[in-house]
Amino acid sequence: MTLRTGLVVLAVAAATVIAAPAHAALNVFACEPEWGALSTELGGGDVSVFVATTARQDPHQIQARPALISRLRNADVAVCTGAELEIGWMPVLLRQSSNGKVQPGSPGYFEATQQVRLLEVPTRLDRAEGDVHPQGNPHVQTDPRYMRVIAAALAKRLAELDPAHAASYAQRATAFDDKLGQAIERWRTEAAPLKGVNAVIYHKDWVYLFAWLGINDVAAIEPKPGVPPGGAYLAQLLDEVPKRQAKLIVYAAYQDARAPDFIADKTHIPAVMLPFTVGGTDAAKDLFGFYDDTIKRLLVGLGGNGG
Ligand SMILES: [Zn+2]
Repeated sequence: MTLRTGLVVLAVAAATVIAAPAHAALNVFACEPEWGALSTELGGGDVSVFVATTARQDPHQIQARPALISRLRNADVAVCTGAELEIGWMPVLLRQSSNGKVQPGSPGYFEATQQVRLLEVPTRLDRAEGDVHPQGNPHVQTDPRYMRVIAAALAKRLAELDPAHAASYAQRATAFDDKLGQAIERWRTEAAPLKGVNAVIYHKDWVYLFAWLGINDVAAIEPKPGVPPGGAYLAQLLDEVPKRQAKLIVYAAYQDARAPDFIADKTHIPAVMLPFTVGGTDAAKDLFGFYDDTIKRLLVGLGGNGG
């Protein structure tokens, strides 16, 4: 072997080590970006995280693409919202992946909504009311207090699945909980002006965020959950919104801005786009940036309202 080929061999060996760290014990398949971010916080170098969707996609409606099936086939754990948010696509992926480790009921299948008490659990199920969430509202990631509870449960689960690194998961879980606890205190102070504010929403995405910050949802742009607004409904909304003393119109990064912008234009109430998850805005780079930017955008919207 010449010196030159020897160097090439060494370089290739080094590249291989970097590409596949011997430490990446667990392959995580995260259904939504917030669970990918949480898995990274808790798993650090002990996990390799794949995120199935982006903040620009509607998590209610995802295509079960072959690329997602092969990712799920190689996963050790699937971390999802649950409560039927992924009912339109995860069952297909789970079936097609033929991966016993991540099937519902196995330790490798984790649902965030199973760890907390859900709001808006319907007492009576009526499909005519639109695409309601029959197990309750699944959009729990917008309240960091829920995130805290879910984080503790997920860290425990990761440690069960990868006992060799149990101490590391526990350590990172404690550090994350401390940091989040301090941030929650800071956010409470920062968000004080939002308490009691009335807001128009797009979809019932915000029940947890609004419960946390004390914002009232007074009208929805969707006439029924999952149903886009038509012209007649929008006209009716234009009539209603000023009467309800709304100060903000709130929609998610994945939603169409046209209806919120139209109402904002006609009523002079600011439309505020919120990240809804990690990656929804440039500032929402991780979970802390996600909550930071959500509050900042709401405050800017409220400030621009002219009181
Ligand atoms: Zn929903």
